[in-house]
Amino acid sequence: MRRPKIVILGAGYGGLSAVRRLQKLLMIHEADLFLVSKHDFQHETIWLHEAAAGTLNHNRARYKIKSILDQSKVQFIQGQVTEIKPELQKVLLEEQEMDYDYLIIALGGNPETFGIPGLKENALFISDIDSSRQIKEHIEYQFASYRGREERDGKKLKILVGGAGFTGIEFLGEITDRISELCQEYDIDRELVKLYCVEALNTVLPGFDPMLSAYARSVLEQRGVEFYLGTAIKECNQDGVKVSNGEEEWFIEAGTVIWAAGVRGNPVIEQSGLPHSRARIPVDDYLRVPGYDSIFAVGDCSLVINPETNRPYPPTAQMAMQQGDYVGKLIAQRVRGKAESKPFVYNHKGTVCSLGSEDGVGVVFGRKITGYKAAFMKKIIDNRALFLKGGLPLLLQRGKFRPF
Ligand code: FAD
Ligand code: NAD
Repeated sequence: MRRPKIVILGAGYGGLSAVRRLQKLLMIHEADLFLVSKHDFQHETIWLHEAAAGTLNHNRARYKIKSILDQSKVQFIQGQVTEIKPELQKVLLEEQEMDYDYLIIALGGNPETFGIPGLKENALFISDIDSSRQIKEHIEYQFASYRGREERDGKKLKILVGGAGFTGIEFLGEITDRISELCQEYDIDRELVKLYCVEALNTVLPGFDPMLSAYARSVLEQRGVEFYLGTAIKECNQDGVKVSNGEEEWFIEAGTVIWAAGVRGNPVIEQSGLPHSRARIPVDDYLRVPGYDSIFAVGDCSLVINPETNRPYPPTAQMAMQQGDYVGKLIAQRVRGKAESKPFVYNHKGTVCSLGSEDGVGVVFGRKITGYKAAFMKKIIDNRALFLKGGLPLLLQRGKFRPF
């Protein structure tokens, strides 16, 4: 009998969790497993704010995908997915096409710029290794060129973050950790460096516990961050951003603008004509793409409604890993001809936001934590994600074992 062909697109939290579950549950003769991703390495997305600020070398945040696969069971294919053709059961890559019996779409997300003029051209994004390394090098270049010119341009020392969600706040935590070292390295007076954060809503970390949000804001303000709350970015150019608080508009000058104000799904979903909302597929209770019994979507390119709030769950690594694991189990059962399993239920264990390497805020299993405890818990979370993706070898190779 022909073995079913299971194709997983994307090697992030969702894709790797699915692959690891499938390679564990299925024997070689039961199915052919293929993992497709655009690079031969995978990065830890949840560490990218550190790579962007330069507090962690970007190479520490990535590893070879093949090194964590059971290659006797899984074939890795490096390739850029351009389109999925569900009616033909085919996936198009730039240089080849593949067919499948089961497909897991785990292609992650992209920054959402909401059509704001000039952002794509002038802002920087924390979305992968290339973009994070670019932010680090851009800031260093700005500092170096501030010193290198006779006429000193203060704009080069102004760093502005758009969005005070978790990504923006974690980046600010890291960059405030590094600023003294940067100033020392480039002989710059710390007082001349300006750090801004512009947030459309009236609080940092909107939707999070108000006490913890206030703590995060206060820590970052003490480290020199100026917040513009209730203020939205309207336009961006090479000199900074135009902002508005609803009553007046003004311009904030900055040599570095980092856009951390939201994510959408993957453009491949839009190009493939699959049902979507901002490139995220509203999956059914079994994480299937509506209308297709053998196509599943997990992670940032899927959309699952929280039954308690009737709103979509935020796209997180925690969600992606649980979804990948669930779909891996479900497909393994179907390959063995077993009855449909239970619907997917998300189990939210908590959220921790780092504020640099020694501070943070979080709610874990319903308990609020701040300071060292939260920073320590964040390292445990980072290590757990590594373990779930690559087992003990990856954890020992890349894990964060220094408490602070
Ligand atoms: P990803 O992990 O992004 O993986 C997508 C995969 O698809 C990658 O392998 C990519 O190379 C591949 N791919 C994409 N397009 C193509 C294509 N066209 N062809 C082939 N391959 C392709 N969440 C938390 O729960 N906790 C945190 O602490 C946390 N911290 C974060 C910190 C930062 C700085 C950021 C930016 C996000 C953070 N998140 C966190 C959110 C979390 O990182 C995402 O929700 C998570 O990465 C989603 O996982 P995923 O598997 O859907 O996508
Ligand atoms: P987000 O959507 O959570 O936050 C974006 C912020 O930008 C919002 O507060 C929004 O009000 C603001 N914003 C939107 N448009 C704006 C504008 N024009 N001007 C100014 N502000 C504007 O995005 P994120 O922070 O990138 O997070 C993405 C996902 O990743 C979320 O699900 C988040 O929970 C997750 N994440 C989790 C962690 C963690 O658990 N430690 C860290 C980073 C990201």
